[in-house]
Amino acid sequence: MMKAKLILDGNTVATSIKDNLVGRIKRLSEKGIVPCLATILVGDDPSSATYVKMKGNACKRLGIESIRVELPSTTTTDELIDVINKLNNDPKVHGILLQHPVPHQIDERAAFEAIRIEKDVDGVTTLGFAQNAFGFADFPSCTPAAIIAILDYYNIPVEGKHAVVIGRSPILGKPVSAMLLNKNATVTTCHSRTTHLAEIVQLADIVVAAVGKPKFVQGDWIKPGAIVLDAGYNEGNVGDVDYDACMENASAITPVPAGVGPVTIATLLKHTVDAAEKFA
Ligand code: NAP
Repeated sequence: MMKAKLILDGNTVATSIKDNLVGRIKRLSEKGIVPCLATILVGDDPSSATYVKMKGNACKRLGIESIRVELPSTTTTDELIDVINKLNNDPKVHGILLQHPVPHQIDERAAFEAIRIEKDVDGVTTLGFAQNAFGFADFPSCTPAAIIAILDYYNIPVEGKHAVVIGRSPILGKPVSAMLLNKNATVTTCHSRTTHLAEIVQLADIVVAAVGKPKFVQGDWIKPGAIVLDAGYNEGNVGDVDYDACMENASAITPVPAGVGPVTIATLLKHTVDAAEKFA
């Protein structure tokens, strides 16, 4: 059995993205501008609270301001949109992140759409999604952008490769499929109604797992030499890929934790700085 040659280390990629932001943040501060990310957390989901806290801490470490808005689980769509509009109109705020998922009574799409495109640093609006699909988004969704950043950092060729994406959510599976297509991969996007999933994954040169099911992708689904990117993050720090089994055949693989996750956060910080520079 072939052993994985390369562990795609998310911390290394994240550090290189963040290092590049230091000088840019300093130059902004000379103009009296501090990049600022507003995160909105609705309800008391503990994982979401942890993600929001991690994002806030990452901002602080780099000198990016973070505003944390916490709303009760009984918040209505209109109340949430009011909060988003206040942040839209606040010139100190450069990026707005509404933590997904929101409680069921809220129309999540309507709330996402309320975010002004200039502040849509996670590419959640229809316009942001469409711009990404066309290949000219300022802010593609952070996790898909992180997956592409990992491929770029490690100089992994994408053009002409068969990429199989498992998952089609609007913030992950669909935008990463579009981004891989824009990089001239041949892309197959799979989902819960896909038949013969294992056989399709077995054809992939690049596998992206974005399913939300721990250790879902099995070792014998991986073609020898394939690249495996695991966007999954499940309870107990487990990805969507059976890591030990998949690394037997893979030539390169992202671990969980320390794979896609830290690069996603670094990408969010980068988008916030990009937004602040555009504002300046
Ligand atoms: P999601 O909205 O629940 O979407 C899951 C996707 O997986 C759906 O498209 C679903 O298909 C598909 N799926 C479910 N069961 C399947 C099956 N048996 N076979 C094939 N496809 C199946 O999840 P998400 O928000 O995209 O997140 C996916 C994963 O990424 C989760 O583990 C999440 O925690 C993680 N994530 C990580 C980061 C990060 O920074 N690392 C950020 C965001 C999300 P249908 O469309 O047919 O339902």
